Amino acid sequence: MMEAVGLDPCACDPAATRGRRHPETPAPTRTAFQRDRDRVIHSTAFRRLVYKTQVFLNHEGDLFRTRLTHSLEVAQLGRSIARSLRLNEDLVEAIALAHDLGHTPFGHAGQDALHDCMRRCIEQGTSTDDWGFEHNLQSLRVVDELEERYPAFDGLNLCFETREGILKHCSRSNAQRLEAMEPGGVAHRFLHGGSPSLEAQLCNLADEIAYNAHDIDDGVRSGLITLEQLEQVPLFDDYRRRALQVHPKLGGRRLLFESIRLMLSDQVYDVIEATRRSLHDAGVATVDDVRRSPPLVVFSADMRQRSQALKTFLLRNLYRHPQVMETTGRARQVVTELFTAYLSDPAQLPEAHASRQHLPRAVADYIAGMTDRFAIREHERLSGAVLFP
Ligand code: MG
Repeated sequence: MMEAVGLDPCACDPAATRGRRHPETPAPTRTAFQRDRDRVIHSTAFRRLVYKTQVFLNHEGDLFRTRLTHSLEVAQLGRSIARSLRLNEDLVEAIALAHDLGHTPFGHAGQDALHDCMRRCIEQGTSTDDWGFEHNLQSLRVVDELEERYPAFDGLNLCFETREGILKHCSRSNAQRLEAMEPGGVAHRFLHGGSPSLEAQLCNLADEIAYNAHDIDDGVRSGLITLEQLEQVPLFDDYRRRALQVHPKLGGRRLLFESIRLMLSDQVYDVIEATRRSLHDAGVATVDDVRRSPPLVVFSADMRQRSQALKTFLLRNLYRHPQVMETTGRARQVVTELFTAYLSDPAQLPEAHASRQHLPRAVADYIAGMTDRFAIREHERLSGAVLFP
């Protein structure tokens, strides 16, 4: 498939993809990246995102973001910026929709608990699998191994460029293991330096823009942070003042939404301008030049600093709010006790998982795939305890 004309020479061209792990005949009407995006949308893991925690547990309220709506917002912001910069929108969308597929139930609390469980198996000598548990790596495992939809291969068999974008972070030890399995592959840059494609870089930034904005919205909706507190955050307060200049009588939710709207637009324009400048200054002309350069999809220095201050505010006042931390504690307990229960009685696992060679990894994969509410129900069934009434 020919890509539409007019892409930046540094954008990823699906006709020049570094390919799939299992060679396939190109689709007649779609580019390789469109096909990846479609495969992600039709995956089982994608549908589960609707019942997975972003910050607030799924059952705490119907209007809070879930991993699914978060991923859609990242895709929207990413595509919008990609179009302005003439990057490949389909690739951006594929990466954005897949970037959180490996998240456990209960967000980061679930990931940390699973990681501790896997480490403990190593310490106790009951396992030789020392990959631990990282959600980015798990997203890659979902698309490479765990989805079971195709007759000829495991996983979704996505293009290198999509997989490279999904593996946003990776510990050095896991990068070494991946590199041994796939020399020069998606983990290479974590060992030898360099950057991923501009589309992958863009998804990282779109992720940050999306969660900063929606966590303000959800935080205020939950009552855990207030509009008054937000007045101490320069990035937010500038837009609140601007909104009030144009609409002096605005207050309450509409003032909040208008301030967030202005903040989102301004951050998008900032990334577009700053990235145009950095691409120009770096003198890059090809995707390979991009891969050899430091990150080029960037905020301006001023916006970088203000976005950081907002992140710090959200960390202190929302993510570490006593009420969120208390839920986090119970979530860790659910995941840890589920892990122990399946390990000691594999008959409680579905047959396909129970029969896998390496039991601790099979248990980790099974739990990681759960939605919040399924994990809670399973925990109640196996332990008899009700942690989330
Ligand atoms: Mg995300």
